[in-house]
Parts: sequence; structure tokens; C-alpha cells
Amino acid sequence: MSILTIIGARPQFIKASVVSRAIVAQGGLSEIIIHTGQHFDANMSDIFFDQLGIPRPNYKLDIHGGSHGEMTGRMLAEVEQVMLKEKPDRVLVYGDTNSTLAGALAAAKLHIPVAHIEAGLRSFNMCMPEEVNRILTDQVSDILFCPTKTAVDNLAREGFSDKPVQVLNVGDVMQDSALFFAQRATAPRGFHLSDGFVLTTLHRAENTDDPARLAAIVGALNTIHATVAPVVLPLHPRTRMAIAKAGLSLDVYVVEPVGYLEMIWLLQRCGLVLTDSGGVQKEAFFFGKTCVTMRDQTEWVELIDVGANELVGADQANIVATVTRRHGQKVEDQHQLYGGGQAAERIAQYLSSR
Ligand code: UDP
Repeated sequence: MSILTIIGARPQFIKASVVSRAIVAQGGLSEIIIHTGQHFDANMSDIFFDQLGIPRPNYKLDIHGGSHGEMTGRMLAEVEQVMLKEKPDRVLVYGDTNSTLAGALAAAKLHIPVAHIEAGLRSFNMCMPEEVNRILTDQVSDILFCPTKTAVDNLAREGFSDKPVQVLNVGDVMQDSALFFAQRATAPRGFHLSDGFVLTTLHRAENTDDPARLAAIVGALNTIHATVAPVVLPLHPRTRMAIAKAGLSLDVYVVEPVGYLEMIWLLQRCGLVLTDSGGVQKEAFFFGKTCVTMRDQTEWVELIDVGANELVGADQANIVATVTRRHGQKVEDQHQLYGGGQAAERIAQYLSSR
């Protein structure tokens, strides 16, 4: 069976690294990879292919920038051309980006079955581009690989139990990835801080595109850096531009986006994770660290339920108070919330049995 995988953004490279390896190990499956180009900086794209052993993409489309509609539309047209040429038996998409939606939609229109990894997640906030992308992608998929029981329940609530599709709780491929690469973590070049720093990432549009939220978050980071512990911020290119545009100044330890192996090294040594990322919320948990999340909702509600994560929105005082209170608190993964690290294997097995 031939599988056409579509990826384009940093978290998808990380997820694809474990699934592509499982596809090879499974046997009987061949994989063609399209990289749409959504993330294109060397430190947002190439470094992951180099570090994680992902097969080189067979097609690199170099589509990035522009509005959501423009980017998605260009991807739709170009991905369709590849599908017409390659005639895959199945298309595989990950998560919630414009690349995911374009791939799923192009395939559905050509009657190529779609498997969605990370299906069923919901923030219930339709202002998030990711929420729109994931809901529509789920609608046109016939295999929905869910990372959690919550995701399965979300799909059941939307009527998926009555549809002729497969909804499977396989666990989260990001746990596979964290476990696999944990032993290979490496220090970022020139990093000199001692353990216990606050590891921060910031890139959600709801924060970067809203000047009031962005200013409150930058204010909180500066205060935490001065009063709690050094804040280490591998700065996403979009956030860098937004901060410059808003005329804000960051007085924290800012570095360029780091590779995944460096990110794991930082996760292993930090005293707390402060983020608005989806993936990083779970990675904090995988490495036993408390997470404080600068959003109003999260798709990973089980982390809130077990007390490993707190939502603080973009409220400056709340961010500072919560980080001050929770800094250094460890969390324990006693709950097998994310499948235990065999998600990719389960996915490859299932795909080969179809
Ligand atoms: N990540 C990384 N380098 C960084 C920041 C994040 O390798 O400088 C990794 C992080 O460990 C996680 C993934 O990128 O595995 C998360 O991606 P991102 O936060 O961009 O997307 P989201 O998960 O929010 O969709």
C-alpha cells in the first residue's frame, strides 16, 4: 500500500519522524512525503530532518506566507497535482495546520482515503485557525487516529460513532518521540544557565496578533525573569516580528528556535514550562515538569484534570503569580494518559492491515 504523507510545520516533522520509522519497520507500506514549505527557516524545518532521521521529502512545495486562504489555496492546488501523479492508496495528515487541511481536502475530492493523526482534539474556540483546520480535516477522514480518550469522546459527541469511519485511540505519537529521543538530548550551543530556569515558548496567533495580550505576556516574562528564575525563550520567527512591530522589549534570555534534541535537553533541566504551544504542554508532562499555559482553553484537558497544567490566559498578574507558586514543582506521569509510547507502531500496524 502506498501512503502519501503531507507535512509542513515544526510539530509535524517531529510527529512524522516516529511514524515514518514505524512505517518502514512495519513493512508492506511505502511512503511518499510532501513538505508544503509552511515552515521554511533552517531552524524551523531542515534541522528536524537532519536531527530526527526523517526521510527527505519527495516533494518540497515551498509555499509559505500570505493570508490563511491564500496559503491554503495554493497548497490545495499543488498537493492535488502530486496526488494525481502519484495516485497513492491513502493520504496521511497530522494535526491542525493549513497543510493538514489542504492535504485532506485535496485527497477527499479525489476520493483518496484520508487518515488523520491527532484527530478529535478540540479547543471549542472557532477563532483559532487550528480549530477550523482540525474540525474540517476530521470530517473528511475515514481513519481517525486519536491521541486521547478525550479526543474519542469529542468525536462521539459530534456523531462520528454513527459514521462509516474508524475512530481509534492509539495514543500520542509525541510521547513516542519524547521517549525515543530523550537519551539523545544535547545542550544548545553556548548555553550556560544552571538548572531551574523557566522554559518558555510563545507563538499562538491569539497571543502574537493581539497587541494587548502580547504586551501583558511580555511584561509577565520580564517580571518572572527578574524575580523568579531566568526565562529561556527560543523565539518563534512570527513572535519576533510581532514583538518588534508592537515596539515591546524583552528582558529575558532570548535564543533562536532550537532543534528538537536541544529542546528536550532544556525540558529535562528547566524548573517549569510556560507556553502557549500544544505539543510543549505534553512534553512538560513527559519530562515531569509543571506547565503553565498562556491560553484560555487547551485541547489537552487531562493535564488540567491531574493538576499538571494550569491555564492562565494572557493575564499579566496571573501569569506571574502562578509561575511563582508552581516553579520547581514536579509532576508524575502515573496516569498513562497518552498511550505509553507505542502510538506510531499501532498506527503503522493498522495502516498495513487495511
Ligand atoms: N520545539 C522545538 N524547538 C523550539 C520550540 C519548540 O523543537 O525552539 C518543538 C517542541 O519541543 C514540540 C514542537 O516543537 O515538540 C511544538 O511545536 P510548536 O510549539 O511549534 O507547535 P504546536 O505544538 O503548538 O502546534
